[in-house]
Formats: sequence, C-alpha cells, structure tokens
Amino acid sequence: MYEVIRGQEVAVARLKAACRSGRIAHAYLFTGPAGVGKYAAARGFAAALLCASAREGVACGKCFSCRLFQSGNHPDYHVLAPEGVTIGIEKIRRITFALGQRPHHRRHVVVIDQAEKVTAEGQNAFLKTLEDPPGGAVLILVTAHPNLLLPTVVSRCCEVRFRRLHPGVVVEELVQRHGVPPDEAKILAVLSGGSIGRALELRRPEMMALREKVLRCALAPALREVQGSAVYNKTEVEEWLAFFNLWYRDLLLYRITGDSGPVVNTDRLAELKEARLSRTGLVASLEAVEAARRMLRANVNPRLVLEGLVVRLGSIMRSQKPEVRSRN
Ligand SMILES: [Zn+2]
Repeated sequence: MYEVIRGQEVAVARLKAACRSGRIAHAYLFTGPAGVGKYAAARGFAAALLCASAREGVACGKCFSCRLFQSGNHPDYHVLAPEGVTIGIEKIRRITFALGQRPHHRRHVVVIDQAEKVTAEGQNAFLKTLEDPPGGAVLILVTAHPNLLLPTVVSRCCEVRFRRLHPGVVVEELVQRHGVPPDEAKILAVLSGGSIGRALELRRPEMMALREKVLRCALAPALREVQGSAVYNKTEVEEWLAFFNLWYRDLLLYRITGDSGPVVNTDRLAELKEARLSRTGLVASLEAVEAARRMLRANVNPRLVLEGLVVRLGSIMRSQKPEVRSRN
C-alpha cells in the first residue's frame, strides 16, 4: 500500500519497522506540509496494522481484513475528517465509544485527518484515549499544522515527520500519475514548494488566470490591476506574492547566469528576456515582495499589502535606467 508514496522513504521505513517488530505506539502524529503523502502513509500503516498476515511491515493485500479494508468497509478502521471547518466533540465521543467495543478482528485503527481541526474541547476529551487507547487500538493523527494542536495532545503522540518532496519527484508524479505536460509540471513543482497536493490545486484554471494577472502586473505594475471589485483575503494575496517572487527570481537568475535552464516560468521566456529591470531593481523588487510577506504575516490588511506592493514595484521600475544592450 506504500507504493503510492514517493520521496518519503525515511518515514515509511520507520512505519514498516514498527509494524514488523510489533513495537507500535498508541498514538502517532504524522506531520509535514500538505500534499506530500501523509494521509496515504496513514492508510498504508493502518492496513498493515489490521492485516492478518503482514509481511515486512506491509499489508498482504489478500487476507480477509485487507479485502475489507480495500472495499472501504473494514469495521475496525475509522476515519475522522472535518465536515465544514472543524471536527466537533460529538465525533470524538463517537470514536471513543467505538474504541470501547471489542474489535471484529485484530484491533481498532483510527485516522484523524487534518487533526488540527479538532476543536479544543474535542482535543481535551480525547486526551485519555490518546494516552491509553483500549484494546491495543492505534490512533494516527495527520496534520500539516501541529502548532495548532494542544501541547498535551502532541506530547502523547509519537511524531513521524514527512518532508517536502524534491521538485524532481513532484514533476515525475505529476507527469506519470496525473498526466500533466512536462513543462507545466516543472512550473507547478517549484510553485508548489514540494507538495503534489498543492501542485494539483495550482493547476486549477483560476490559479492559472491569477498567474497571468500577476505576470502582467510584474511587467507593468499598475494599481488598477489590483483595484476594482475584487476582495482579497490573506491566502489570495499569498498566491500573488508567490507568483511575483518566482518571476523576479527567474529574472535575476537569468540576468546573472544568462542561462534559461534554471528558469521556472519556462513558458514566458520571451518576456523574461525582454524585461528591463536591472539587477539592483530585481533585488529591490524581491525585497519588496518579502516585505509584503512579512506584513501579511503580521496581519496587515491583505488588500493594503498588495496595493502597497504594486505601488512600490511601479516606483522601482520607473527609477530604473534601462540597461544598455545591443539590439543586433
Ligand atoms: Zn492482509
């Protein structure tokens, strides 16, 4: 079941070893960025823990338990995920009750996806179960934001860290498994910061439209591009900043090396080569993006941050003397 997980050899090896040796913790906390295989690993681990004849820490895929698991009807396998914004206390109570019943097969396994969404009340209600789950049950909490969990919850779990994926791995996965054209996959891999889940999200048409808008604005910063009826929330402005950042990074790399190899915005090479900003201007632009990022983190109004940035980028561009270059 682990074969679908790429680039997480360390975490997966740990899970396999635990299963093989039988030294299994009561509660695990799978942490790491979103979309890097944490949930898939939780499923693989759960299947192995439930399997009647797991080999080398991996579910056999053939026994009765494995077939039940694959059909989505294993009576001892429980998944909690947010409906809406949170996982409420009623769900936690239901799970606690289910764990109190004798398992049909070997043991109960519970996976809580986006565990940070369990309400504080729910987390408190779950502490006792986490510390000592009845009948050898195993609890797996999956989260990209462990800092949002109560310290008392975190301290009761055995943490398994999942890493950001290497961009090369993301490209391969996108091309081979999701049929993304290689050029697009290369852009998405870098933009996503090593997360396949995020890369697929970025592929949505509205994200591509946003990228167009940001690049237009980077080429000719104008306040009208960001004004109007649009309402900006923090996440959207973060997307703007990520696209800006990548564009200026590309320009700077290209300006320094003269090589388009490391360029990410490969579909925009023509504009990249024509861009007029000097090195100093590029560094100043990158700094402006970084400053905007800090303001956003400090909860400055997202719209103001974005407008301020565009004004600053515009003034950097106007203060530039175009670099002298040959036109032959
Ligand atoms: Zn099996």
